Amino acid sequence: MDWERQVNIKNPAEIAIMREAGRINATVLATVRALLQPGVSTAELDAAAEQVLKKHGAVSPFKGYGHPPFPSSITVSINAELVHGIPSATRLLNEGDIVSIDCGTYFQGYVADSAFTAGVGKVSPKAQKLLEVTEKALYEGIAKMRPGNRTGDVSATIQQYVERHGFHVTREYTGHGVGREMHEGPQVPNYGKPGTGVPLRTGMVIALEPMVLIGTHRTKILADKWTVASADGSLTAHFEHSVAVTEGEPLILTVP
Ligand code: MG
Ligand code: MG
Repeated sequence: MDWERQVNIKNPAEIAIMREAGRINATVLATVRALLQPGVSTAELDAAAEQVLKKHGAVSPFKGYGHPPFPSSITVSINAELVHGIPSATRLLNEGDIVSIDCGTYFQGYVADSAFTAGVGKVSPKAQKLLEVTEKALYEGIAKMRPGNRTGDVSATIQQYVERHGFHVTREYTGHGVGREMHEGPQVPNYGKPGTGVPLRTGMVIALEPMVLIGTHRTKILADKWTVASADGSLTAHFEHSVAVTEGEPLILTVP
């Protein structure tokens, strides 16, 4: 069965473990965020993340994933790079960069998945607006994650919010269910129509992840076969949380 179709409803005990995984993931991201300054290599960020995971008895589901196997525990994507950037000892952060950090935590058989984008030092007003719109789009989407809504309601909310601010959402990369596997159903694109898609049910856990581009929605894959960048070289941003659908408020798992 394709992963997009495999929707696994989690019971409260599973969600409790995923909440722990999410807490660890938040600690990893906070650690990396504190290191973002000019001159730091993206490999140093990865090493710091790996240390935090190890301390908590967790590993990254990213390492060894896919073809060719992803070599690192986190992805670091700078400026035009949208997602899946490979950390490197020779890639240094510069003042004014915007850096997207994506991390997964595999803990006691479950995965948490979360990402943020932040500036290095002072960034341009346009970059600052991109960060704010992308992060707010994530929270607008999360607010729609209630039983009775459909995935299309979440997707449409993200798309409308982003496009209202003059930016674009990616088409090729989507949010997804998360649980024992990093990628489960349902797929939750960052574009869509209200009232369509998979009905949301209590116990679903979804990694919602707006990926936003300033210029157009088009992307390209770089020569390393992993890094996804905007086709036109314009700035991009990415925010993600793993969120459980409950009978009440959506429960964000990837927070401290
Ligand atoms: Mg992620
Ligand atoms: Mg994800």
